[in-house]
Amino acid sequence: MVPVELVGNALCLDFTNTVNARPVAGRDWLATTKEAVTWADATGHPLEELGDLAEARDFREAVFRVFQPLAHGGQVPQGDLDRILAVYGEGVTRGQLDSHEGNFRLEWSPPRTIQVLVWEVAASAVELLTHGPLDRLGECPSCCWLFLDVSKNRRRRWCSMTTCGSRDKSRRYYAGHS
Ligand SMILES: [Zn+2]
Repeated sequence: MVPVELVGNALCLDFTNTVNARPVAGRDWLATTKEAVTWADATGHPLEELGDLAEARDFREAVFRVFQPLAHGGQVPQGDLDRILAVYGEGVTRGQLDSHEGNFRLEWSPPRTIQVLVWEVAASAVELLTHGPLDRLGECPSCCWLFLDVSKNRRRRWCSMTTCGSRDKSRRYYAGHS
């Protein structure tokens, strides 16, 4: 199995990056139970039981449709924004605030299902929407992965230099030398 790549710097963005391409995904970490468990483990949000993966995949696209235009200063679809808020609201009603490393955070009673992960993603999305930094949001021009640019010079362009960045470099190299 290919390694899980977490380049988003926010859970909600990494969640949208569970497919390697849009609109047709060649790989999808939410396609099967085994892959979903592996991905969730890698993010530090392990799953004990699964649940409805189709709904999680559908919610993922709503999150993508909200943040993708924001990476370019575009308009956000209101329906998807409402959906994130609704899922967040549902998570808040089912959750509780537990103390965690000097602060509090939303937690849910076990078992940890994909539904809990979806609530966490919704909470991460609301946090990013309300607190930003949305001016640091970027989209890889090669694979459409979303990320927060936390680099000092704010010049991050690619999901990662080792994959898309280097692919582009070699493409330009060969284009310039043919
Ligand atoms: Zn990329």
